[in-house]
Amino acid sequence: MAREPWVDKEECTSCGLCVANLPDVFRMDEDYLAECYNPKGASEEEIQNGAIDVCPAECIHWK
Ligand code: SF4
Repeated sequence: MAREPWVDKEECTSCGLCVANLPDVFRMDEDYLAECYNPKGASEEEIQNGAIDVCPAECIHWK
């Protein structure tokens, strides 16, 4: 089964980078914290490179 990204919202600083890079995977919730709403919106490599590796708070992880 494919891995799914998960945002630790306790650590998210609302910078918006993951949403800007991968809008088909991440969005901001009602509290303006990032969440993964569509884990299949990009390849694992794209998620790794565009979100997990660049999140300044290092708060996006694989489940
Ligand atoms: S890149 Fe990280 S800190 Fe920035 S909005 Fe996404 S999860 Fe939050």
